[in-house]
Amino acid sequence: MPVTTQAYAAFSPDQPLSSWTFERRAPRADDVSIDILYCGVCHSDLHFARDDWGFSSYPVVPGHEIVGRVTSVGSDVSHYQVGDVVGVGCMVDSCRHCSACHDGLEQYCQEGFTMTYGSPDRHDQSLTQGGYSRHVVVSERFVVRMPEGIDLQGAAPILCAGITTYSPLRHHGVGPGHKVGVIGMGGLGHMGVKLARALGAEVTLFTRSEGKREEALAQGADHVVISTDEAQMEAVAGRFDFMLDTIPVQHDLNPYLNALGHDGTHILVGLLEPIDPPINAANLLMKRRVVAGSLIGGMAETQEVLEFCAKHDIACDVEMIKIDQINEAFERMEKGDVKYRFVIDMQASSPA
Ligand SMILES: [Zn+2]
Ligand SMILES: [Zn+2]
Repeated sequence: MPVTTQAYAAFSPDQPLSSWTFERRAPRADDVSIDILYCGVCHSDLHFARDDWGFSSYPVVPGHEIVGRVTSVGSDVSHYQVGDVVGVGCMVDSCRHCSACHDGLEQYCQEGFTMTYGSPDRHDQSLTQGGYSRHVVVSERFVVRMPEGIDLQGAAPILCAGITTYSPLRHHGVGPGHKVGVIGMGGLGHMGVKLARALGAEVTLFTRSEGKREEALAQGADHVVISTDEAQMEAVAGRFDFMLDTIPVQHDLNPYLNALGHDGTHILVGLLEPIDPPINAANLLMKRRVVAGSLIGGMAETQEVLEFCAKHDIACDVEMIKIDQINEAFERMEKGDVKYRFVIDMQASSPA
């Protein structure tokens, strides 16, 4: 039976989100049904609600940092039981048979993964809808288990912001002895600082404002460099092994490339646009430097980052809100006025 659920949805790019009641698809044999406890508010939610990328469909219920409790399982479900506390991140399906899916890299599925909201379902073509809602129905293959004892509110953003920064750090083998620069101190950046530090690296935060120095140090950064200060940037030339670049808007990469040593790697995780101003290729050739990109992480690695965060007592710093505060939260996010993630308490909210 389809489940009627209450939610908040965007109905057009220029209207605030408002309450909406809709039907989740009837659960299939491999599905788990989840009562949502918490849902993080990601910048992507805002971009999608406002059609900033030009491929939004309406109405859309955003939200892809979902933590909830399993309320029922289909006949083929083997990993989860009623009562389990689970997470759902940015993906709810993929082709499941291409080489990327086979390698546990569903985010790079050759057919494209199914997004948690705003994607056509692979079976019935209905549009997927996200976590700003009471319930969600997801195949168990795209569900993760929340580790015992983890702070569920602070863990919700690990499902997007955490895995997005953890995956490239792991892929590139970041560990003790490495010097890592984290560029930007938002939701992604502050997780990048904590994770790189826990992996054993020496971490330097690059930020434009002197005002973020103290909080960066409090988050675990060993050093802070003010990126707008040319003297400070020049003083760190050739110092770093990796740059984790979380900036979501166009910016000049050249000064950061200059801060990498030979064979250094600049990893983009926030930018989805052409690099502008252009990279001076001499900055690559002269020191065999690499510019790389990375997108979220696969399901197995998402489970791994949750275990890693539980073990190292890492959580996202969050500000809890109720669902009817979501439009205000979007406005504050646009101004950078959040430390560092809003998380909606769905149980405390009355969406309709
Ligand atoms: Zn996200
Ligand atoms: Zn695939």
